[in-house]
Amino acid sequence: MPELISKIALEEHFSAPGLEPSINDVAFFDPEVLATIEAALPELAEQRLRVMDQAGISMAVLSQTAPGVQAIGDAHHAVDLAHRANDFLHTRTAFDPARFRGFACVALQDVEAACSELKRCVQELGFVGVLINGATNGTYLDEPQFAPFWHTLEQLDVPLYLHPGLVSEHTLAFRGHPELEGAVWSWTCDTATHMLRLVFARVFERHPRARLILGHMGETLPYMLWRLDSRAAVTTLGRALSQPPSEILKRHLTVTTSGVCADAPLRCALEALGDHAVMFSTDYPYEDIQLAADWIENAAISEDQRIKVCRTNAQRVLRLA
Ligand code: MN
Repeated sequence: MPELISKIALEEHFSAPGLEPSINDVAFFDPEVLATIEAALPELAEQRLRVMDQAGISMAVLSQTAPGVQAIGDAHHAVDLAHRANDFLHTRTAFDPARFRGFACVALQDVEAACSELKRCVQELGFVGVLINGATNGTYLDEPQFAPFWHTLEQLDVPLYLHPGLVSEHTLAFRGHPELEGAVWSWTCDTATHMLRLVFARVFERHPRARLILGHMGETLPYMLWRLDSRAAVTTLGRALSQPPSEILKRHLTVTTSGVCADAPLRCALEALGDHAVMFSTDYPYEDIQLAADWIENAAISEDQRIKVCRTNAQRVLRLA
């Protein structure tokens, strides 16, 4: 058997006590599939290390699964649960920092508390960034109250992983079509739109050192760059940007392969954003970790690209090297 490439995976989920997804959050899953996922989420030891070993994953960066604290109405409760979730992850994984790292979970319901918690996680607990599950009680990260949070991210020089969460409100196009909910389609629309809000609201002009990561091969955005530029150029608001949207995305965005095991979108992301901007991930335990590993080992890309995607891009983005 050929030797596996040592991989870093960075969209790998767990759930801390009190933040397990509710049945409403995951109602679209087949109950049998859901039972396996629910059993694997809180486990941070032998079983996880075994499947990582089989897939050649040397390090997993773990994050609280969606919707997490983003869905909690009471700010005080959300702040408390975020703190507990980070401590849970830290104590459960600190025994093996070579295998496990973490993205902090923070409650943006209280922006000041979120900034303090992120600082604590990065400076005291050794977390490598933060993961946000979509909108927080219907508010998106381009809104002005989040400026201190962007400032903290720049200060700490850590990336923000923007992951799908609860979709705040559906357009008429989704009404009566529950099959389009969740990972099938609605999360892609919401998360790509969230990212484009950041671009068009000029968050990156105010926060030039901010760095974003999107999963799911960039939530379709790599495919759309030319059209975004072309159509933004004929709108007043698009013309007001300091650079075309594609340039802003290329400067501030990296993507992971989580939940997309197909060569065509991989090659599109590599060509559209650059070889430095794509990182392997599996979305365990929602997706098949072994399938993801087997795919990337054999994907139709150059060996130089494969090493970058599997490991060295993540080392640079997460400042691991
Ligand atoms: Mn995920």
